[in-house]
Parts: sequence; C-alpha cells; structure tokens
Amino acid sequence: MNGLQVANNGQVTKVGAAVDAGKVPFAKAVDAGIDFLIVHHGLFWDPPWPITESNYEKLRGLFDGNCAVYGCHVPLDCHPEIGNNALLAKKLNLEPVGAFHEFEGNPICLITRPRASSDRDSLRAALEKQFAGGVTAIEYGSKNPTKIAILTGSGASVTGELKSQGIDTFITGELKQNQFNLAQEDGLNLYLCGHYATETFGVAALAEEVAQKFNLPYEFIATECPL
Ligand SMILES: [Zn+2]
Repeated sequence: MNGLQVANNGQVTKVGAAVDAGKVPFAKAVDAGIDFLIVHHGLFWDPPWPITESNYEKLRGLFDGNCAVYGCHVPLDCHPEIGNNALLAKKLNLEPVGAFHEFEGNPICLITRPRASSDRDSLRAALEKQFAGGVTAIEYGSKNPTKIAILTGSGASVTGELKSQGIDTFITGELKQNQFNLAQEDGLNLYLCGHYATETFGVAALAEEVAQKFNLPYEFIATECPL
C-alpha cells in the first residue's frame, strides 16, 4: 500500500525517512522529533496482521509520538529521478537505457550502460566504495560489462530473464542461494549489496524533497540492518 498509512494530529514540523516500518525506526523517529515519517517498506502487506504484542507497541509509539507514516514502495524503486534504481545508477555513472519485468504495472528492473569506458574491476570498486557494509561479488560474466541491470532490494524474481535480455551484469540487494549456479551457467556477474543498503536512496530523496518544498527540517533514520 502506497500513501498515508497512519495519520497524526495534522501538524507537521519535521520530515523523516526510514527504509522500514519497524518499532525501532519509529521510536528513533519520535525521539528525533519527526512527526511525518516516509518509509519504503510500509506497514501493510498480505496477510493482514492483528494489532497485538509488538504490533500494538509499534503503533502505540506512533500515536503517543504524534508521528504520521507515509509508505512508498514500488513507485520509489522505479521512479526515473528519485527511485532507488535510478539513484544507484547515477552514483555508479551508469546511463539508464530501458527496463523490464513488470510488477504491479511497472517494469521494475532498470537496464543501464556505462557512460564512460570502464571495466568490471572499476564497477566492483565503485560498489564497494558505495556500500561500506560489503558487496558479494559473483563474477562469471564479461570483464567489460556493457549491459548492466539494477534492481535494488530483492532481485530473485528477475534473474531468469537476465540472459534473454542480453544483460551481462546484475546489481541487486539480495538473491537466493541457487542463483549462484545460474551465474555460472549463464555467464553473469552478480553483485549483492544488501537489501536495506540498496533501498536507502529513494526514500531519503523523497523525504528531502518534501522537506524542502514545505521548508521543514529533515532527518534520515538509519537502522543497523545488515541484510
Ligand atoms: Zn525492499
């Protein structure tokens, strides 16, 4: 669900961003004086969940802290300017040239090519610089990537289409264990940079833009998610 998920009293004085709708990020946001928190992974997914135990505490913290929550999931993966995929491409100096794999009406996997001549080693070095938490490099593809796909977060759903799309290199957050074999068999470079780490960009950019538009302070609420 995208949009306003939890209201507050209608007054907003500080905008925040967090990747996940969790009890800890909510508590940190309230402590930071945030009363409008934009999250990438929102509260509501299938199946529905009862408001008991930790769910109750999670929501009570929001109500007590007068903190509204706005969720924005797939639109923030796919947005051409402030989406996770597009912002990561920009940081890596990769030019978007297309997209594939429809999900909820949007092609969610970005196809890019290098803007300047570069090789696989320099791409890996750029990723390692960007993601201090570490990058898992599985390198069975071209040493000079020319068609590089980016899907932040979970990339497992698109790996079967990489070869038919002519992609030699795939940058994502996380994959399934059996996809190592696919890299060997289809001759692919796979770079796993962390689901959380690859999805910090879009939500931060959206919250910053909202804060600027309404001339409000802004803060990113980081968590220690290593996955
Ligand atoms: Zn995600």
